[in-house]
Amino acid sequence: MSCLFCSIVSGDIPSNKVYEDELVYAFYDIDPQAPVHFLVIPKEHIPSAGAVTPENSAVVAHCFEVIAKVTKELGITDFRVVSNCGLQAGQSVPHLHFHVLAGRDMTWPPG
Ligand code: AMP
Ligand code: ZN
Repeated sequence: MSCLFCSIVSGDIPSNKVYEDELVYAFYDIDPQAPVHFLVIPKEHIPSAGAVTPENSAVVAHCFEVIAKVTKELGITDFRVVSNCGLQAGQSVPHLHFHVLAGRDMTWPPG
């Protein structure tokens, strides 16, 4: 099965890496929606937030540890974490990812 983000994890498709460990990969979004916009993804292929289970949820907690660590390292205190799930919510890549957006005022509710 071909998956864009699995190909980024494997290095078959290049990316601008922010962070990597054995479980998680983080890289800058190719189409940034804020001055800082990177994605944190589990290396394991999980299709979306709707596919998180007791068996795979530990990596989700780890994603949030990575978000806290990387934002701290970048000197970012105020940021937004977004995970779009499904076409109506705007998910375009069916591999679980957390957008981390920072560096500008954020509106609420999101569009
Ligand atoms: P979503 O639309 O919520 O599924 O988020 C997918 C995100 O992946 C979008 O913000 C895209 O700009 C981003 N994206 C797509 N292809 C790449 C790529 N090759 N490298 C980095 N980010 C990408
Ligand atoms: Zn994948």
